[in-house]
Amino acid sequence: MNEIQQYFAPTSLGQAVECLKDGEATILAGGTDLMPQSQAGKLKFKRTLMNIRHVPELIGVAVQGGDVCIGALTTITELMDSALVQRHLPVLVDACNHFASDQIRNAATLGGNICNASPAGDTLIPLLVLDAQVELASKARGKLSWRRLPLAEFFTGPGKTRRAPNELLVGVRIPLPQPGRVAYFHKFGTRPALDISTISIGIAGTLKQGALSNVRVAFGAVAPTPVRAPLTERALEGQRLDAAGIAQVAQVARDEVKPIDDVRATAWYRKELIHNMTKSMLDHVADA
Ligand SMILES: Cc1cc2nc3c(=O)[nH]c(=O)nc-3n(C[C@H](O)[C@H](O)[C@H](O)COP(=O)(O)OP(=O)(O)OC[C@H]3O[C@@H](n4cnc5c(N)ncnc54)[C@H](O)[C@@H]3O)c2cc1C
Repeated sequence: MNEIQQYFAPTSLGQAVECLKDGEATILAGGTDLMPQSQAGKLKFKRTLMNIRHVPELIGVAVQGGDVCIGALTTITELMDSALVQRHLPVLVDACNHFASDQIRNAATLGGNICNASPAGDTLIPLLVLDAQVELASKARGKLSWRRLPLAEFFTGPGKTRRAPNELLVGVRIPLPQPGRVAYFHKFGTRPALDISTISIGIAGTLKQGALSNVRVAFGAVAPTPVRAPLTERALEGQRLDAAGIAQVAQVARDEVKPIDDVRATAWYRKELIHNMTKSMLDHVADA
């Protein structure tokens, strides 16, 4: 940690983006990625360490203008306990239920999970199928400046995003799901809990007369970033969820993903998991 020359704990968004304006600050939220990465020598701290935990604009869950807005500092425990999230976004609660241990959930934030940009990040797959947008703030020409972009365009590689060094993630906005909208998440790890995903799958759509429309499918841990799966989405759109239809979609899913071999699984095994888990999730949707 000897690179850190200054510690700063802003108490407003204005102070936080002012501190970030030359891009020379490392942002600390829950620290559950930052600290292990620094201890493993994988992260070089910048001159200033900025603890954002006291920035009120990054805290809270609310419904605004037809969107559920979730502050970047919302912890995994707070997401699970939020009545708004439980009511409107139960698939996110499902994913949080598979996230680490209570101790980690109490510290780990949604913003940290997004900005860490792991291909296996557990909240990222439900957020992708929920059409989440990220909201970023920075200071430009002495004024606060904001931009939004779809989460599906945010990730550029493992640990890499389109966030500029002078930008702070303020939160995510998720359109309130319309009546009839369903969304499911499945995580497969080598242990039932406390494990990084070997693969994960999100599926969302509007369920009517035994088929899904306006379909979203996303996969985790099968590519350098969490990804939407356009070929699988097209195959599932309007497809009757009978045995033949489900088998066809599961095969498209297996063919679409291009995973790698690593310590957790071979590429072949991941493709089989994507096939089998897609099939079992769609069987479940068909029975719903
Ligand atoms: C034992 C253990 C188990 C874990 N299990 C899981 C798991 O099951 N599933 C899973 O997905 N993850 C898991 N993780 C990883 C980690 O807990 C999550 O990614 C967590 O959400 C990170 O949030 P944080 O607040 O701790 O981020 P931090 O460590 O504080 O920050 C992570 C990164 O995001 C940046 N950052 C944070 N907030 C912002 C912001 N608002 N704007 C811009 N940049 C920001 C930081 O600078 C840093 O680069 C685990 C970690 C540990 C140590």
